[in-house]
Parts: sequence; C-alpha cells; structure tokens
Amino acid sequence: MSSVGIEQSRSRLLTGLRKFQHQIYPERREAYERVIRDGQQPHALFITCADSRIDPELLTQSGPGDIFVSRNIGNLVPAYGEVLGGISAVIEYAALALEIDQVVVCGHTDCGAMRALLHPEKVSAMPTVKSWLRSAEAALSVVQARKTARDESEALHELIEENVLLQMRHLRTHPSIAGKLAQGSIALSGWVYDIAQGDVRIYDEQERRFISAGRLFDEVQGAGGAAR
Ligand code: ZN
Repeated sequence: MSSVGIEQSRSRLLTGLRKFQHQIYPERREAYERVIRDGQQPHALFITCADSRIDPELLTQSGPGDIFVSRNIGNLVPAYGEVLGGISAVIEYAALALEIDQVVVCGHTDCGAMRALLHPEKVSAMPTVKSWLRSAEAALSVVQARKTARDESEALHELIEENVLLQMRHLRTHPSIAGKLAQGSIALSGWVYDIAQGDVRIYDEQERRFISAGRLFDEVQGAGGAAR
C-alpha cells in the first residue's frame, strides 16, 4: 500500500526533524524548559489506536508534559492479569506515579482493527494481531447479538463504540484504576474521533450513548476547564 520508498521516507523524517529543531523548538522553548525544570505533570492518560491519522496532542491541543499517551492497535486495554506488560504498566505508572486525573479511551471511525474483527480472514496471516484483538471480541459479540446494524458500515460504527465501552470496563479491572475510582480521584472517559469530520463523540453516562463533544463545551467552560 505504501510506500514512498526507503530513501524518501528517511528524508521526510529528517526534514521534519530539522524543522522541529530550527523552528518549532525555539518557538516553544519556554514550554520545553518548563517541563525540564518541573518534570512531567500530565493531567490525563490518553489511550488511542496506533492509526497514523490520529494526533492526540493536536486533537486535545496539548503541549509537552500535558498528556501521557499510549497507543496500540484498536485502542485496547486487556483486562488486568490477561496480558501483563506494555499497556498494564503504562496504566499503573500513570495512575500511581503520575497521579493523572483522567483516562481517555479514544476509538476512531474507519478503524482497521475493528474491521479485522468483522472480517477475521483479513488478519489470518498475522497471528500476533489476531491474538491481540481477542481483547475486543466481547464488543463484537454485543454488536452481533443486538442485531440492530442494517449493514456493514452500521456494524462497524456500533463495534467502534462498543469497543470503547468494553475497554473502559477492562480499565476498571486494573487495581490502580479501581483504587482511584473508589477514592473518586480519577475519571474515565470514552471518545470516538470521527476522522472525516474532525468531530469527537463522548460517551455520556446519563444518556448512555455517545454525544457530540460540542454539547459538552459549555459545561467545561462553566467548570473553568477551558482555561487550562
Ligand atoms: Zn484504529
């Protein structure tokens, strides 16, 4: 599918790096110096898909030190004890060492991982991906049992949302998160980023559905969150 070729790829990376060093870093020197001086104090853990079309810092307008990001195929969070490693360590460190206030699980439209769940034959030659996606299989069962999707695109849409909810449930099985939730010192949030629209839909616990983030902006402003 790709590619531009090895040489061009290398040159694109180096050109970007040069721009960062000569233009971006000097422009934002103050922010970089602050995080060196004070250390990182991210307020949120942002778990999202590895899909290259998602840019968590751009999406949340976060600067250096603002958000702790963990990415993997399908924005999955295996339930505690199932897979101890990468993501479990990130969650524990973010909750206990960095004392983040919030965890966001952010799925997205047109997700290849969710497509692969609907069509497992697509990953039959990729045993590691196939096995990783097991942590999302319960979401697929929900969509299939509900039978409300009229076509492939609706099934994908439902699966993307159900997967975010499932991963939020898995998050609660991690002791560090369960403890903080019991103290009321952490909040979990489920997002779906619409790549084509630039919109984000956020799960509303009261309405029990995803609603456009636009509706939440007023509340956030009222709480002074926009000042950050
Ligand atoms: Zn994805």
